[in-house]
Amino acid sequence: MKKIIASVFVFCLIVNTISSQILLKPAHVFDGNELHNDWVVLVEGNIITQVGLQSSIKIPKGAKEIVLKGMTLLPGIIEGHSHLLLHPYNETSWNDQVLKESPVERSIRGAVHAKKSLMAGITTMRDLGSEGAGYSDVYLKETIEKGIIPGPRLLVAGPAIVATGAYGPKGFHDGVTVPLGAEEASGEEAVKAVRRQLGKGADFIKIYADYRWRNGEASQPTFSQKEIIAMVEAAESAGRYVVAHASTPEGMRRATLSGVETIEHGDGGTLEIFKLMKDKNVALCPTLAAGDAVSQYRGWKKGSDPEPERIIQKKNSFKLALQSGVTIAYGGDVGVFTHGDNYKELELMVAYGMKPLAVLQAATAVNAAVFHLPTLGQIKKGFLADIIAVEGNPVKDISKLRTVNFVMKNGEIYKNIP
Ligand SMILES: [Zn+2]
Repeated sequence: MKKIIASVFVFCLIVNTISSQILLKPAHVFDGNELHNDWVVLVEGNIITQVGLQSSIKIPKGAKEIVLKGMTLLPGIIEGHSHLLLHPYNETSWNDQVLKESPVERSIRGAVHAKKSLMAGITTMRDLGSEGAGYSDVYLKETIEKGIIPGPRLLVAGPAIVATGAYGPKGFHDGVTVPLGAEEASGEEAVKAVRRQLGKGADFIKIYADYRWRNGEASQPTFSQKEIIAMVEAAESAGRYVVAHASTPEGMRRATLSGVETIEHGDGGTLEIFKLMKDKNVALCPTLAAGDAVSQYRGWKKGSDPEPERIIQKKNSFKLALQSGVTIAYGGDVGVFTHGDNYKELELMVAYGMKPLAVLQAATAVNAAVFHLPTLGQIKKGFLADIIAVEGNPVKDISKLRTVNFVMKNGEIYKNIP
């Protein structure tokens, strides 16, 4: 009996091994850190098992060869700031999405967005809040994990937490109850909100450290430092972390000193604040593409009109961030602009002064490190097989990421256009 079990086991193992060994042969490999020529990559099951010059690795007999002529392999892109449950504001305003689109419609849109993202080479995505759609992001993540719909690996924030009174939709009289774009809380209630959101499936907590208190106003800080520290403590004691939306120097300062791990947007950051972030090991997720998109929705004709003040200011603050040496994560706030157009942030990072190699590192190895993903973001032995390929050499020309020819997630091929 024992013998029979043993032989069945061996048979299964062989079948499994034969069907799941793939040798990828591109022109170049960007491994998450640097570019290598003439490397090949062996994937067995869902793991990268060998990487290097073909002469230096043992290729198992029967491995399926996929030649990616003239292409560069990269680790699957890790989008650092998305909203799968939003779609571009020039299609429907944010207010109308929150107030008029049902959670069912928003979730179905989310499923469409998830597929588009994966096909654009986004194999992992950090989603920064459902914006009024409750825990639909948690459910989308579960649906992807069950294999019902294709999509990236998701890290989700759930509803996110705003200070009482600070968030929209606004503009209604006191007798009208409207669904908010995030969960309101203050003081001790904020700690409860952290725990409630973690318990319901949030992978991390997103807070708004500043926001417009009234429509049309400039942002002001929201939570006190004491409140942010309490929320960070509650999240960290549960083995999770907090990230903060912040665009004012004071909001950024409070969030940084309170122990958040990333600051989202950071538009009004000064050299001093970015240096403080560097000292405290807080990364900046600059979301350049969101401001670019919103300015165009407001009438800016990019290329012919002069740059609006918002863009000039963002370019300046991004330069200060680069000068400070703060870690730059990659995240565009996709959802504000079209899902699948994640490349726009990559191109803007280059246009605003970052080297293409550093941008590609940010979108892969750096984001993996910042988001606590130790087996993602690199093409390296033992890492999960999330791999994409583009034509030519993206280190020389970042726009190559506009068209992704090959997508593998967890060893499974979702796209292969020769
Ligand atoms: Zn966002």
